[in-house]
Amino acid sequence: LLTWPLIAILVATVGWGSLLQGMEHQKSEIEETALREAATLAHAYAGQLERTIEAVDQILLHVRYEWELTKGKLRLEDSAQRGLFPQPTIFNVGITDFQGNIITNEPPISGAVSVSDRPFFYQQKNSHEDTLYVSRTTKSKSTGQSVINFSRKVFSTQKQFDGVVRVSVTPEYLTASYNDIALNDNGFMAILDTDRSLLTSRIGDKIFDMQNYPLIKIPGFPKNGGSILLSGSEWFTDGRNRYIGWQKLDNLPLIAITGMDRESIFTQFDRSRDKAIAQAIINTMVLAAFTLAGMGLSLRLAWRKHQVNLTQAAYRIATEAGNEGFFICRPIYDRNHAIADFELLDCNENGAGFYRRQRHQLMGMRLSELYAADQFEYALKRLILAMERGVFEDDIKISSAAQAPQWFYLKMIRSDDVLAVTMRDVTESKAHVLALERKGNEDALTKLPNRHWFNAYLPESLAHSAKRKTMLALLFIDLDGFKKINDTVGHDAGDELLRNAGRRLTQAVRPHDHVVRIGGDEFIVIIEVMEHKLDAAQVAHRVLHAFDKSFNLSKGKFSVSASIGISVYPDDGIDTETLLKHADIAMYSVKTGGKKNFRFFDQRFYEAMRARHNKEAELRHALEHDQLVMYYQPRVEMATGRLSSMEALVRWAHPSKGLIEPLDFIPLAEETGLIMRLGEIVIEKVCTQLAYWMRSGQEVVPVSINVSARQFNETRVADILAVALKRHGIPPTLVEIELTESSMTGNAEEVRESLDAIQKMGVNLSVDDFGTGYSSLSQLQRLDFDVLKVDRAFTADLDKTKEGEVFFTAIITMAHALGMRVVAEGVENQGQIRKLKALNCDEVQGFYISEPLPPAERQPKLSKELSPLLA
Ligand code: C2E
Ligand code: MG
Ligand code: MG
Repeated sequence: LLTWPLIAILVATVGWGSLLQGMEHQKSEIEETALREAATLAHAYAGQLERTIEAVDQILLHVRYEWELTKGKLRLEDSAQRGLFPQPTIFNVGITDFQGNIITNEPPISGAVSVSDRPFFYQQKNSHEDTLYVSRTTKSKSTGQSVINFSRKVFSTQKQFDGVVRVSVTPEYLTASYNDIALNDNGFMAILDTDRSLLTSRIGDKIFDMQNYPLIKIPGFPKNGGSILLSGSEWFTDGRNRYIGWQKLDNLPLIAITGMDRESIFTQFDRSRDKAIAQAIINTMVLAAFTLAGMGLSLRLAWRKHQVNLTQAAYRIATEAGNEGFFICRPIYDRNHAIADFELLDCNENGAGFYRRQRHQLMGMRLSELYAADQFEYALKRLILAMERGVFEDDIKISSAAQAPQWFYLKMIRSDDVLAVTMRDVTESKAHVLALERKGNEDALTKLPNRHWFNAYLPESLAHSAKRKTMLALLFIDLDGFKKINDTVGHDAGDELLRNAGRRLTQAVRPHDHVVRIGGDEFIVIIEVMEHKLDAAQVAHRVLHAFDKSFNLSKGKFSVSASIGISVYPDDGIDTETLLKHADIAMYSVKTGGKKNFRFFDQRFYEAMRARHNKEAELRHALEHDQLVMYYQPRVEMATGRLSSMEALVRWAHPSKGLIEPLDFIPLAEETGLIMRLGEIVIEKVCTQLAYWMRSGQEVVPVSINVSARQFNETRVADILAVALKRHGIPPTLVEIELTESSMTGNAEEVRESLDAIQKMGVNLSVDDFGTGYSSLSQLQRLDFDVLKVDRAFTADLDKTKEGEVFFTAIITMAHALGMRVVAEGVENQGQIRKLKALNCDEVQGFYISEPLPPAERQPKLSKELSPLLA
């Protein structure tokens, strides 16, 4: 507000100062020039006066000469007629005698006139020298006009004073050069004698006589010439100021004086000065008006700012009560008009508190000063977005080394060119949300990320890889043998093992790889930013290695291994689903190919999988459409050579592929669970067959039915069997059940119960393929098995190695000791028969006796030649 008038006064002062100074300068210049000119004019006037007086003196000298020459006879009228006097109207020439009586005069005078009382006469009379005398303006005795008299002595022949010759001129004559020297109406001209008395003077056209005088007093003129300003009030009767120049004449005691009217000289100057001052006054007024307008504007701005401040203060106070921080910030633009920073214009104490400062400390601070470099970028980006969109909301995280990160809810609204920002501390609720989110993404058991997290994370990671053009690998890890531990030792042990396995996996992979538990005993390792497939292979090696050592659980030591399938982005797929499926397929191929290994996905696995799926569908179809056929292989008692039993062996009568061996589809049925249905069908068929044989009236030997491990563990075989036997009216003693040792690895009590149920029905139990599993005879005896079927691998070894025979001997001896009968499987030649007989083996079965036989009307009769051998 004060700046405006201050600047205006400064501008006005400078303007007026320079204007007046310039005028003063101009004025003094004019004055100097005028003084110089006055001196010059006086000098010129003096020269002219000298010449005029000289001309007058010439006339005097000439007249005197003629007078003396004519010895007083000269008549001036004649001289005039002869043209002696150049300007007869101006000149009045006369000669007197020594008493002052006019003797002759031109123009002539009538009567006697004496001039003896006149200074021009008595001055000459009393003077001893021959000099020119110049009088003051006097009144002419003859004409009564104002005149100036010039006189010289006239001498007698004796050289005595004999009178005076005189020329009178009007004062105009001496001031005639007034016009020549360009003096205007108020110019001044005068002739002064050295006694400081005026001879004549003139102002404009007015020539003064003795009565009226233009000068109030006569100045003294030092030196021979010069100039001076005489003030009108002091010196001139007309009161006008004049520049006076004076010059002494060389040979007469006279001073020529000229005067230039000051006012005339300054007229032009005064006019332009008045004009300039008028303009300056106008300028000053405009400046004043501008200043007032500026002050008005400033006042209005100040008022508005005051209003805004009041509003802000009110808002601050209002928000201070709550827990919201409130800020106003202004963008700072760089040279390219892009926002480079923000300045904090205002905030409340709550807001300042968020930054652990006082409000006054934050005012005027820059965003870049408030935040560390990396966080500044983060914050700036959001503020710029708010400027662009008008409104922006977000949760932001502020972390500092000193304390735990804080979360704030930010709402920014643009108003003109400033941002109003409200900020609320949401750290607590955010922590709650984050915890919930983490729970949703975390596997509760292992604390590893879960499938939900994986499904959200992998697409992002894949997009990242796509952008960077890097590879990514998924390791699909399935624990081998976990299910067995879980089933046999219990779920607590299983959980403990999974927790440990998760830890081992995390330690085995590289720090930036992710380990995910996607369910059960399945884990996934995500390997990002991979240069080469070898990287994935290396991680897979380490994972395999991580399971080398057994797990020390609270219920004992347990070993598991890992089967790992690897799929690689982008070779094996570009989306989550495909990559996961392919890793799974690769893992599956490891499982079927012997486990405890890793494999990269190969399209061929996929084909194999497909084939398997097809086969499964076909088998399902076969079960539904009665494509299974039972073959029966005889078992013979060594002591008598009689048929003791028959083993039911299933075949698949495929409509196009012919008869398919059970090893080609039983494992698949086991894996897929179709074995349950298959088992039921087998029981049903065997019972039907037995019923058929029984109806024929002949003596029927028992039939043994193979029950697979899964079938035994997952169905109530006893119940199914009981229903079938009852329906077909078959005594339980005609049926035997063959179980492999692997069936008995489950929960000991459950196994025992199932076995008891079967035995209680009166059904005999056999251990099939003995020697390939745990081979724990004592366990078998405890479980009350009736028959031990020794695997054909041992039968084959019998006549090959000594150890084979030793082994067989031991089995037979111990089995007998424990009350079990021994059957040798896969007997193919006579030698084996002989050895087995020698070892006291109870029964034999094998191609040497008979291959499995298709269903027939009767149970087979064995060929005669076997009998002696066996017996
Ligand atoms: P297994 O129970 O040990 O059956 C004996 C297998 O040995 C039969 O093969 C039989 O043909 C074969 N074999 C018998 N004597 C000889 C011999 O002298 N030399 C040789 N090399 N082999 C001989 P098959 O019929 O192919 O059955 C294979 C396996 O399939 C069976 O082994 C059994 O574990 C399973 N199986 C067969 N039928 C069924 C069934 O109905 N249910 C279940 N769960 N499994 C069955
Ligand atoms: Mg068998
Ligand atoms: Mg067998």
